[in-house]
Amino acid sequence: MPVFDELGAEFEEVVYFHDPPTGLRAIVAIHSTTLGPSLGGTRFYPFGSEEDALRDVLRLARGMTYKAAAAGLDLGGGKAVIVGDPKRIKSEELLRAYGRFIETLGGRYITAEDIGTDRDDMDTIRRETRYVTGVSPELGGSGDPSPVTAYGCFLGMRASAEEAWQSHSLEGRRVAVQGVGKVGYHLVKLLVEEAGASVVVADVDVDAVARVVRDFGVETAEPEKIHAQECDIFAPCALGGIIRDDTIPELKCTVVAGSANNQLERREHGEMLAEAGILYAPDYVLNAGGLVNVADELQGYNPERAKARVQAIYRTLREIFQMARERRISTAAAADTFAEERIGKIGRVRLYWVPGGRQWTKIWGNGT
Ligand code: NAD
Repeated sequence: MPVFDELGAEFEEVVYFHDPPTGLRAIVAIHSTTLGPSLGGTRFYPFGSEEDALRDVLRLARGMTYKAAAAGLDLGGGKAVIVGDPKRIKSEELLRAYGRFIETLGGRYITAEDIGTDRDDMDTIRRETRYVTGVSPELGGSGDPSPVTAYGCFLGMRASAEEAWQSHSLEGRRVAVQGVGKVGYHLVKLLVEEAGASVVVADVDVDAVARVVRDFGVETAEPEKIHAQECDIFAPCALGGIIRDDTIPELKCTVVAGSANNQLERREHGEMLAEAGILYAPDYVLNAGGLVNVADELQGYNPERAKARVQAIYRTLREIFQMARERRISTAAAADTFAEERIGKIGRVRLYWVPGGRQWTKIWGNGT
């Protein structure tokens, strides 16, 4: 496959790592370091082909640039994939070989957990490189990001309510939550206990449903039908691609706001939602809490500071909604423009030469 064609004009660097004794085959894609070192998780997955792995890592790395920029972080976007079945080939030796490779990038890419990798793996990688987040609290890690992600999502819902109904109150609003896993559970808790919303949930995992019903007394719906619930807010918190040609006509909500990544199957579905009169809270703006939380580790994790930074999601979304109104574009397009404009403006400033100023090591607040 002609790799340079895939990279287009956008990507800075793609690195292939190979360690035959452990079977490690990894690709790191650095989309942008304009705002700072690139940060993104390591996906360990049995990709069907090398092409699939490359396409995925490029798409995900690009997404991280936008998420970090919109979240106001001094970070760029990157991502890594390890090709193979983690159940079969994951070993201490492989992860440490991977850590050695990450170290060679000198901090241009910082890793974190993703599908197929977990906190223990990050701890193993940490033995070979400092350029890793999502490690255990004993090593300076921030722990499970889900409650923080849910909190950011909740604030994003309030900003959406302000836009849709000129009041950020969610009291009495009916919210349909698709997926009550790690994020969905905490979101339902906030909606019921803090906001006084009326919540209906669905999940393919009956135990997950039973838990939220027991803890918060919410209503339930069939998983295939949750998006078609009559409600004020539909909150996708399960898988991506739920907003698509066949589901958009079935939506009976005023707002779509949830934590799932890549909710729009294709970019134009953002325009279709706008045409249908549905306010879409762009996913990567709303769910940035997890990234903000993990990024805080780079300065020595402080939960209060991380939470305060997550609160910016409310203001950012208000700005994006305003931009969409003023420029007559969809909120999905406005989010991309918002991120690109920030990269342009702040990136320009960061080009000024300051002694030591472009050394990414300065982000390691504790000097490690
Ligand atoms: P999770 O796996 O804990 O929860 C997802 C839940 O969705 C599970 O309970 C699963 O059974 C359910 N589900 C799967 N398919 C479904 C379907 N068809 N209908 C209804 N329910 C279904 O994951 P999570 O950590 O809660 O993340 C949820 C979403 O938010 C994901 O898209 C994830 O990428 C995104 N996200 C999570 C974080 C975080 O901090 N955990 C941060 C950013 C984005």
